[in-house]
Amino acid sequence: MRMSHRSSAARADQQAVSNVVGLCGICPGGCGVEIELVEGRIERLKPLKGHPAGVVCPRGVKAKEIVYSPDRLLHPLARIGVKGEGRFERIAWDAALDRIAERLLEIKRTSGPEAVMTYIGRGLFDSGLVEAFAPPGVNNFSSKSLIFPFGSPNNAGCGSVCQTAYGMLAAIPTFGLGMAATYPDFDNARLIVIWGANPATDSPPTAVRKILAAKKKGARLIAIDHMRSHAAANAHQWIPVRSGTDGALALGMINVIIEERLYDREFVDNWTVGFDELRAYSAGFPPEEVERITRVPAAVVVETARAIANAKHATLSMYTGLEYTDSGVQNLRAVFVLFAITGNLDVPGGIMLRAKQKAPYRRTNIPPPPDVKPIGYDRYPLFCELTKSAQFMEAPRAILEGDPYPVKALVIAGASIITGYPDPELWKRCFAALDLLVVTDRFMTADAQYADFVLPATTYFENKGYQKYPGYVQLRERIIEPLGESRSDYWIFTQLARRLGYGELFPADEDALAEFVLRDHPVGIDELRRHPEGVRFGKPEEHRKYEKGLLREDRQPGFDTPSGKVEIASSVLAKYGLDALPKYTEPSEGPLANPGLAREFPLVLNTGARIQSTFRSQHLNIPGLLEMQPEPQVLIHPVDAAARGIAEGDLVQVRTPRGRVPFSAHVTDAVMAGGVELNVGGGGPIQAAAWRQANANYLTDHFNRDPISGFPAYKALLCEVEKLPPEAAHKPAA
Ligand code: SF4
Repeated sequence: MRMSHRSSAARADQQAVSNVVGLCGICPGGCGVEIELVEGRIERLKPLKGHPAGVVCPRGVKAKEIVYSPDRLLHPLARIGVKGEGRFERIAWDAALDRIAERLLEIKRTSGPEAVMTYIGRGLFDSGLVEAFAPPGVNNFSSKSLIFPFGSPNNAGCGSVCQTAYGMLAAIPTFGLGMAATYPDFDNARLIVIWGANPATDSPPTAVRKILAAKKKGARLIAIDHMRSHAAANAHQWIPVRSGTDGALALGMINVIIEERLYDREFVDNWTVGFDELRAYSAGFPPEEVERITRVPAAVVVETARAIANAKHATLSMYTGLEYTDSGVQNLRAVFVLFAITGNLDVPGGIMLRAKQKAPYRRTNIPPPPDVKPIGYDRYPLFCELTKSAQFMEAPRAILEGDPYPVKALVIAGASIITGYPDPELWKRCFAALDLLVVTDRFMTADAQYADFVLPATTYFENKGYQKYPGYVQLRERIIEPLGESRSDYWIFTQLARRLGYGELFPADEDALAEFVLRDHPVGIDELRRHPEGVRFGKPEEHRKYEKGLLREDRQPGFDTPSGKVEIASSVLAKYGLDALPKYTEPSEGPLANPGLAREFPLVLNTGARIQSTFRSQHLNIPGLLEMQPEPQVLIHPVDAAARGIAEGDLVQVRTPRGRVPFSAHVTDAVMAGGVELNVGGGGPIQAAAWRQANANYLTDHFNRDPISGFPAYKALLCEVEKLPPEAAHKPAA
């Protein structure tokens, strides 16, 4: 496929309308699109045919509104009001960067380099930023090395509350590789289990069409979820499960499979360790007990276990849904083990594992300083080791109490802590206590209201770089010039690095970065320039690579774990004093573990299922997207709503032991009776009023966490929902 590219479009800028092939620049999903420009301004996007991510999601449809929003930050700002007040004045870039660097160096002199912390959010998952700033050996987009040469190990990011429990902490001790090195073979699957996930809200949502194509070819679809998501609505079977109890369900199925000898004996005997211990442990999860815990009928537990074991083969679509409960990491491991012992690893139609080989993308590979541990290491060492980052849930202890050492400065980029983490008031206290807070973003955030400096970043439409996908790569050409004085995240980071004395460690600009990263790539930058739509590369993966020495650097057969096998009983977890087996823990704030509390708060609270009009807390100021959902909702089952006199659209308050927040009631049988789903993302300063008042994290709990990852229990708490008079919309109360 040959298409026109940006240079021809640039020539056509004078024309009224032109079309260019490129990438959507709203989120880091990097969807392949054709962009219609009118008078050089973005007008609309169309999906690019034949592209691995050739889709345009609802946010991409509204790209024009987002990019040219009057709310965009267009100039660097310096605070003139008190912290939190949100009063700023314009400042020149050089002055802002010089003053930030001076204060960081002063903090380094007085408190040590480790007193400076960076925080990277989901807004900064651009491919180029990954290779420029990834710590060596880490495949986690929110781990960035920017602050390492300064002498601080305290790089933190949204991996502190998202994805790494699933992608690293559960996967690496079990399989010896992260989930980024796996993929579901939908094309050849006979059974697809979509567990706690909704691919329709992925960015990009490309798995949906693969799953639906597999269904058309005859694959059976089962969705396990507390709510009937888009995925569950399209499945042959929806299995509702009480939030936080998925581990018990997986262990219950494992028990059936072992009792009925349905497991893959050859695989278990040759390629696993810990099976006998698993047999003994899972015996404590007979179907009737699993029904009591999970609310999944015993017969469904048995028939689903048999379906997975007999499918030959079954694959798994899963992401972050199971991370947020008292035993999130172990629950995820239980599901992985279920698929491993049924012979579904690296076989046609199963969970494919990628061969260990040299990555085609070069990295700067800057290591963390060796002599000081990051914040959170004392409580979550495995998290810190695997992600090479601080566990940001522990940042308040360092900022407010100086424990284990003080943190005085924080640089936040592309993130929103106050809307994303439990206990917004705690974070406000933290931000008020810092000597220096810098926020870079495209729009004003709640965090930025406390910042000393706010730096305006571009959207990806205004940047250059590249986008990588498995087996496909594409250059990112600049579609429009940066708006106002906004600058790319890469420019901002490298300008700071220069002023801190180590700018030479990073390529000089975005062009130099792409050339550096792609120098040894099999496609090559010249070929990519000739193909603005991107180029495929690589060959199909072989199967059963563990038999062929393809999963380990030493080329020995087996998995890249200490034993060379799938570690059902994990030696890595045992080394850190954690349960070696995938042990289930009942949610501590749940109806079984805390029946007294459940009398006052009888509904299971689940937060965080994505909606298509937002990207985390973003876009709740964009009128065209707000039309999709003008108000934040609590989804409540008709039986629970009727018992409380609540009707569709009623103003209600959701109450937990920690606070109460107003929401609009959406009465629907798409959630299980006895549980609710709460929209997140509210609480930002430029959002529509109803969203601004509805920060769901006044209800979640900073202290209730998974002991391995440190992730908060966003999805397994208790609440009550109460009808409010329509005039009673109020500010959240702690
Ligand atoms: S997923 Fe992201 S990159 Fe893709 S169309 Fe939507 S906003 Fe654009």
